[in-house]
Amino acid sequence: MDIILLGPPGAGKGTQAQRLEQRHGMRQLSTGDMLRGAVRAGTPVGIKAKAVMDRGELVSDEIVSELIDAELTAMGDDVGAIFDGYPRTAAQASALDEILARHGRSLDHVIELVVDEDALVERITGRFTCANCGAGYHDSFKQPAKPGVCDECGATEFKRRPDDNEETVRTRMVEYRAKTAPILPIYEERGIVSRVDGMQAIDEVTGNIDAVLA
Ligand code: ADP
Ligand code: ADP
Ligand code: ZN
Repeated sequence: MDIILLGPPGAGKGTQAQRLEQRHGMRQLSTGDMLRGAVRAGTPVGIKAKAVMDRGELVSDEIVSELIDAELTAMGDDVGAIFDGYPRTAAQASALDEILARHGRSLDHVIELVVDEDALVERITGRFTCANCGAGYHDSFKQPAKPGVCDECGATEFKRRPDDNEETVRTRMVEYRAKTAPILPIYEERGIVSRVDGMQAIDEVTGNIDAVLA
């Protein structure tokens, strides 16, 4: 099964994708994580992407579609993909159709996480992750069970993203509204869109997503 998690920055895509990986043995394909990896590694793609990401704008369609294609090639055919943060434009949506067809795969569900814009800035500015395993946390909504210690791996180092500040979030929301939200009708026509209320507690959102996939 291949699915897209769609929603603005801070909607909870990464949080829910990590849970789907654990519960259903699917694989999270986050173009944001891939790009941050490229920035850390100092590859030509990373060098090009860094300034764009710091501004909260979108990296080129070609770059992200190539990253997705390469990950699908490396991944087994029997593992379901969770597309997180991709596609983000109409050009990426048609690239994904073409890439999936080439890999003999197709989309089963597009899950839209619906959230109030007002809540997103708070979600983004409170976000942090485990520096070792990448598990996601939040200052107010999801602290580790034992303060300062990752629930998943026991590490004690955490990090915050340089683009998770109020100013950049505003730009990312504008990009989402202008370029990403307009791709929903493509999938609505195919009858594969489900809406999930992303303002609920994390566990409730997970329950609603499980109900869609069941
Ligand atoms: P969030 O999930 O908080 O919206 P991401 O980690 O998905 O953020 O993306 C961080 C940044 O990486 C984006 O603001 C953008 O610059 C870049 N990026 C990630 N995915 C894409 C994509 N599919 N197309 C273009 N740019 C992307
Ligand atoms: P996205 O990948 O869509 O940008 P994340 O999954 O990283 O969003 O979530 C953004 C922040 O909000 C994280 O710190 C996360 O712990 C927190 N969060 C995610 N889902 C919820 C929720 N349903 N309620 C409260 N906080 C949440
Ligand atoms: Zn960890």
